[in-house]
Amino acid sequence: MVGGTLGVEAALSLAHLVIFGRPGSGKSSLAERLGADFGYRLIRTGELLREAVRRQDSLGRQVESQLKAGQLVPDDLIGTLLETNLVAGNQERLIFDGFPRTLGQVAILERIEERCQLSIDAYVDIHLSLELAARRMTGRRVCPKCAATYHLINRPPRVAERCDHDGIMLISRTDDSAEVVAIRQQIYEQHSGPLLAHYRQTMGAKFQEIDGSGTFAEVYQSLCRHLGLVG
Ligand code: AMP
Repeated sequence: MVGGTLGVEAALSLAHLVIFGRPGSGKSSLAERLGADFGYRLIRTGELLREAVRRQDSLGRQVESQLKAGQLVPDDLIGTLLETNLVAGNQERLIFDGFPRTLGQVAILERIEERCQLSIDAYVDIHLSLELAARRMTGRRVCPKCAATYHLINRPPRVAERCDHDGIMLISRTDDSAEVVAIRQQIYEQHSGPLLAHYRQTMGAKFQEIDGSGTFAEVYQSLCRHLGLVG
């Protein structure tokens, strides 16, 4: 942990979070667990895009090749995607996972905050070296039905290769191949520096940096502690 701890008052009213982290940092598994333990709704742009590709709707057809190649989808399409998935006046607690990913998307998030009358209470970066992340990604598995994420060593399902929630056979993501992972890491390096610097400079104690190199349980515990969330 490099950043500070949120004060008790902030933690008690903690409603909306943004979680950052390179591919393989474990951010999606951590977000899922927070969702299950504390009732957050996950807003996962990657999953919303994969759903659009599976449906082969007009957005899905536009972004399919970018997803396969590990390239970022243009900011304006991300804005449209989120507009259709977020309505004003909703009382749900939200975790944004995988968004914002570029400096251009910072303005999109600000527009969402204004339009939906919500305010992000914490921005958390799960920090992990490229080497460790690359090693972790080889064991990653997802459920093709509910998108739950697992890791063969760090977070195995209860029954080998089967989703804990619906028993479906787990798969590897098509963009988890070594070649595409290298591209995704490179793109992360390119955009994350300026993006995280922006939030570090502008958000003060709302910006938290968590060491993601421990076991899943250790990192989750550290995350909860620094957000002031107690299970
Ligand atoms: P993820 O599931 O977050 O790893 O995202 C999978 C893929 O979806 C990425 O490699 C990008 O192609 C695309 N994607 C997800 N979120 C974004 C975003 N915020 N901006 C641009 N592209 C995105």
